[in-house]
Amino acid sequence: MEKIKLFDKTFRLFIRNAEIEAAIDKVAEQINKENEDCCDIPVILCVLNGSMMFTSALMKRFTFNCELVTIKLASYAGTSSTGEVKELMGFTADVRGRRVYVIEDIVDTGTTIVELEKKLKEHGAASIKICTLLFKPESYHKDLPIDYVGISIPKAFIVGYGLDYNEVGRNFEDIYVIDEEGDAPRMKYYVLFGPPGAGKGTQASAMVERYGLHHISTGNLLRKEIAAGSELGLRAKALIEEGSLVPDEVVEGMIASEFRSVKGVNGFLLDGFPRTIAQAKALDEMLASTGEEVTAVVSIMIPDSMIVERISGRAAVEGRADDADVSVIRHRIDTYHAQTEPEITYYKKSGKYFEVDGVGTIDQVRERIFELVDRF
Ligand code: 5GP
Ligand code: MG
Repeated sequence: MEKIKLFDKTFRLFIRNAEIEAAIDKVAEQINKENEDCCDIPVILCVLNGSMMFTSALMKRFTFNCELVTIKLASYAGTSSTGEVKELMGFTADVRGRRVYVIEDIVDTGTTIVELEKKLKEHGAASIKICTLLFKPESYHKDLPIDYVGISIPKAFIVGYGLDYNEVGRNFEDIYVIDEEGDAPRMKYYVLFGPPGAGKGTQASAMVERYGLHHISTGNLLRKEIAAGSELGLRAKALIEEGSLVPDEVVEGMIASEFRSVKGVNGFLLDGFPRTIAQAKALDEMLASTGEEVTAVVSIMIPDSMIVERISGRAAVEGRADDADVSVIRHRIDTYHAQTEPEITYYKKSGKYFEVDGVGTIDQVRERIFELVDRF
């Protein structure tokens, strides 16, 4: 079903069951591995009602001995959190001295899990791990680390696969998101990260085509402005000719003008910008001035060893001498990490940072990116 109606609200298909199952496979694999050599029997704490489907699916995959315990909490009324957690039913077994896995359907503001962790500590649990099927990083501002996450999603109200709207909608095997008709479609602003050799250019083209985006690469922008002889272009040209770096405000000015002038697109894909936290902040301010925001930062990840392999492979094929030297490649990798790490931290704080595994064929990586970006 593409759409469902629950009381006064319409919801549209958001995450298919196959994707949910694949996410559960991954989480189960991690927890199984962690319990391989354990001889105690951990508690699998199902937080009712929402996480009954997830707990069931997860437990079916467990290969170690475990005990199911439940607790019933409530914090949501309608489509928003009340900020207050009510205990409707206490732990169904003693958790004292036990290792506990908290199984949640979704972590939103984190009020529930923080409250639950406190309760578990009071009851003497030996250790506490938090495992959630869904996670809204943009809403989460607590310090408590979440040990296992199935799928990260933007902040929107969802139902299905155990999740309800005023107690209905739990029965659907797929997950649906509230359909806010009447809302004008918002412009999307994606930032693409990826080390050299991660296939960023190829994937950027695929994203541009699928989502109707306008690709902004700082290098291309500079060349375009200079060719057009615009005021910014002339300034940039003069600076480049005297061997200086183009200052942030010039680059930012060009990007702002691109945002304003390009029409008929669903959004923008930024590539090569922001490169520093100062630029990231400038971008946030630029967008905030029109009531907009960065939609997501998509980071294509490959191990360093693979970067070396891919770049030197490419050098051999294309005869690019600049790419052939391993120490030069290593330096580029180091520069990349030094530059992006602080930015990653910055975007993680606002919950906008999402990683995509870049190991595999171009098609595989593209599918992973689409699976993520389809949600926004
Ligand atoms: P938190 O305490 O982290 O803000 O919220 C956790 C609880 O709120 C979840 O266990 C769930 O019951 C409810 N919740 C949070 N977000 C959603 C949502 O998008 N849809 C539904 N149906 N419930 C949600
Ligand atoms: Mg819940």
